[in-house]
Amino acid sequence: MTAQILDGKACSKALLAEVKIRASACIERGFTPCLAVVLVGEDPASRVYVRSKTRRAKRCGIATQDHHLPATTTTEELLALVHQLNTDTEVDGILVQLPLPAGVDTDAVLLAIDPQKDVDGFHPQNLGRLVIGRPRFVPCTPQGCMRLLALHPEPIAGKRALVVGRSTIVGKPVAQLLLQANATVTMAHSRTRDLPAEVANADIIIAAVGRPNFILGEWVKPGAVVIDVGINRLPDGTLTGDVEFAGAAAKAAAITPVPGGVGPMTIACLLDNCVLAARRRAGLEVGE
Ligand code: NDP
Repeated sequence: MTAQILDGKACSKALLAEVKIRASACIERGFTPCLAVVLVGEDPASRVYVRSKTRRAKRCGIATQDHHLPATTTTEELLALVHQLNTDTEVDGILVQLPLPAGVDTDAVLLAIDPQKDVDGFHPQNLGRLVIGRPRFVPCTPQGCMRLLALHPEPIAGKRALVVGRSTIVGKPVAQLLLQANATVTMAHSRTRDLPAEVANADIIIAAVGRPNFILGEWVKPGAVVIDVGINRLPDGTLTGDVEFAGAAAKAAAITPVPGGVGPMTIACLLDNCVLAARRRAGLEVGE
């Protein structure tokens, strides 16, 4: 079997083109969508992500406000900035780049973001809305996974989906989205007893573990669809996913590559959420 490659680069390019059109419609009406990006500290990966997000935003016609704070920033100082951005009428979306330095209370910061500007979708209110099937902003990486799944012609309804990893930013929300798409969802984590058996039983596999080549190709059921969220840097500097790509691609019906799969979708979905926030604020889009 030759697996269909679910191409995140092409899919994100198409989405970014749509985002640009929606952003220019806003600009024509006299308001420019604006994303405030908050980076605390000097984490090299976070710096790369933030640079990439602001560059892409600008290319789509979205204005950005960059707030780079030192690693010594206290929770109170960060909360003060978030409150300021909440009330800034220029700002449509607020992105606080995670992880925050160890001394900062991440939960308090995420809770402080105005849910209407929470374009990452991590505010407890927005996660709760996702669970009841009335999402305000669908978290970006899970949304990207679903958009990539939609490139495969087989319907999701009725399929057995396995989500490996239960983080709040990837595993749990993507499981909710699969459930809403009427898959029968299983979640695996570090205490799962027989992961190979769970993988072998799954029609759809979402891997979000953070361990290189952790899910072996030989476990994958023939004809399964594999979405690899993992981004792992190997000692030689190359990037690889959580799934052993060659082995899995030989058995799967469709698979995402790493890099070039879920990664580019995350940024595109973030910018889509930002323009959505701007359009809602301007009354161009229904929704709360
Ligand atoms: P977390 O570290 O928050 O979560 C990892 C999950 O993997 C945990 O739920 C953990 O289980 C589970 N896990 C660990 N060991 C095992 C095991 N032996 N068997 C089964 N499950 C296990 O990671 P994230 O969700 O934040 O990220 C996961 C990966 O996705 C990373 O590589 C990250 O870089 C990547 N990522 C990619 C993004 C993109 O844009 N493409 C965006 C976000 C993340 P337990 O809960 O029991 O500890």
